[in-house]
Formats: sequence, structure tokens, C-alpha cells
Amino acid sequence: DRLIEPSVQGNEEVIDRAIRPKLLDDYTGQPHVKKQMEIFIEAARSRQEALDHLLIFGPPGLGKTTLANIVANELEVNIKTTSGPVLEKAGDLAALLTNLEEGDVLFIDEIHRLSPQVEEILYPAMEDYQLDIMIGEGPAARSIKLDLPPFTLIGATTRAGSLTSPLRDRFGIVQRLEFYSAADLATIISRSAYYLDLAISPEGADEVARRSRGTPRIANRLLRRVRDFAQVKGDGKVSQDIAKQALDMVDVDKCGFDYMDRKYLLALIEKFAGGPVGLDNIAAAIGEERETIEDVIEPFLIQQGFIQRTPRGRIASNAAYLHFDLVPKE
Ligand code: ADP
Repeated sequence: DRLIEPSVQGNEEVIDRAIRPKLLDDYTGQPHVKKQMEIFIEAARSRQEALDHLLIFGPPGLGKTTLANIVANELEVNIKTTSGPVLEKAGDLAALLTNLEEGDVLFIDEIHRLSPQVEEILYPAMEDYQLDIMIGEGPAARSIKLDLPPFTLIGATTRAGSLTSPLRDRFGIVQRLEFYSAADLATIISRSAYYLDLAISPEGADEVARRSRGTPRIANRLLRRVRDFAQVKGDGKVSQDIAKQALDMVDVDKCGFDYMDRKYLLALIEKFAGGPVGLDNIAAAIGEERETIEDVIEPFLIQQGFIQRTPRGRIASNAAYLHFDLVPKE
């Protein structure tokens, strides 16, 4: 597995439970999202109504699940969690919906992967708190309608473009998460270190932050690797030097790139003369799936200005050449 893979690995979920923020105040960064959500939550609470349905966009590991849990916590309601691919049949969703209490949150991760049949059920549920479902098959089949308690659907997706527009239109609130600044990541790292009972200097936290690709999940993961290194090779404390040595050892470079990013960039520069090159060609050249490239590798490279996605294909920018001490194209 890639150390900088932004999706969940191993027993990370369990470790994360301890360090995952539970209140909006502890949710670092994303100032626009926080400011808006504070008001919407407060308003829903004072009216004693369910919060409007909320859609959260953003690359993996940026805090969508965390935000959904915080919202439920701040509203003081229960949260039921599921995901698009898990809800195979209409009945799976119906079972969840009929178990909700008034004001509860239903969180659907990877909501862009819902099947059309399940999505159909969701429309009236979201709009009118109505469950409209067919039971039985053939001539004996009949449709039943049930009233649901008012609830809040929170959907999370990495792919803004993959959501059908009828589904998208049914969300009253849409929030987009951005990659985190190094300063915000350093705050997250220092906070996590506190919960892990780990001493880290501000410079040490900055060093880990700069290499975390703007992603809290990666920051927390790198912090744990740095902790191991500090314990074995140092005195257990994380200084800038220890952080540097540890991250060099695990091959995460000063920009937070690993072999896969470098392979991607070098292929673009050396095999395709810096582009433009289509996604399929680059996928074949580096032996990686299209989806992984689009969802995981490229967003950070684009945000950092190393590549551009154009209608004619991907282009390497000067920064990409300079990263490898190469001379940029004219
Ligand atoms: P996503 O659902 O977008 O993939 P998660 O919500 O699971 O991401 O976040 C990954 C981890 O990063 C969480 O376990 C949490 O500890 C940490 N994290 C995410 N966002 C924040 C934040 N704004 N402040 C502090 N920690 C965060």
C-alpha cells in the first residue's frame, strides 16, 4: 500500500476514533464551511427542526466523514452510517430509513455509487419524508407508502461530476472541502500528537505537515510513522530532523510525493514530452487505473500547480520539471 494513499488503511479507523475531532470548534481549517455550518446548525436547533440535507464534496481523507459526525453531534441526534456500494437493494435503504428517529442523520458515503433503484427511493424520502416502495413481485406486487420522521441526509462524494442532477438538486446545503494549508495541517498534527501522548516540536509538526499533501488522513498516518522512527532511532521526541529522516526513509519527498507521483510526473515529462496526453495513455504508461489517477494522484498535483488538466489532455508545468531538476520545455 502507498503510505500516502488517502483512503483508510489497516486499523486506522480504530486509532482515528481517538483523535477524530467531535466538535465544530476542533475541526481545523475549512473556515467557510465551518462558518456556514455553525449558523445552519444553530438555526435548525433553535427551530427544533431537522437540518437541511447536506452534500459534502472533496478528495478522500479531507474530513467528510468527520464533518458528518460533528454535525450529528452538534445537533445532538443519532447518526446512521452507510455507503453507496453497500446499499444494493431498495429494501436495504428502506430498512435504514424506517429506523430513523426524528431529526436523525443518515450518512451515505460514496453517494455517487448508489444504484438507480436505491436512488429512486431516496428522492421522495428526501423531499417529502415519504417512503414509496414496491413489495412482492409479479401480479402480487403492490406499492406501499410510509411516512418517515423528518431527518437529515448527509451525502459524501469524491466526484462532484458523478452525481445525477435530480439527486444533487435535493440537497439544500452543499459544502466543498479544500486541501488544507500546511499551517492547518501542523495544527492537526500537534493536536493528534497530544492525543497520542507524543512530544513534537513546532518545526517537527511543520515538516510532517508540508509532506502530507494537504490531507489530514495522510498527516495523521505520517505522524504515526514518524513516532515509530523517533522511538527507535531517537529519544521518542519528534524534532524537525527526526521528522525529515523518518519521511525520507519512507520515501515521501519534500512535496509529499511518493514513487507513484514521481512515476506519473516523469512519465508525463519523459514519455510524452510534457503532454498534452490523454488519461488512458498515461494510465497505460504507469500501470495504474484511470480512476485512481483521477481521484487520488491528480487532484493534489493540479492544486499544487504541477500539472494542468486541459481538454487536449494532461500537461506538465514548469514546477514539475524543476521538481526533478530538469529544464522546463520552451
Ligand atoms: P473523508 O471522509 O473525507 O475520507 P475523514 O473524515 O475520514 O475523511 O478524515 C480522515 C481523518 O483526518 C479523520 O480521522 C480525522 O482524524 C482527520 N481529520 C479530517 N478533517 C479534520 C479536521 N478538519 N481537523 C482535524 N482532523 C481532521
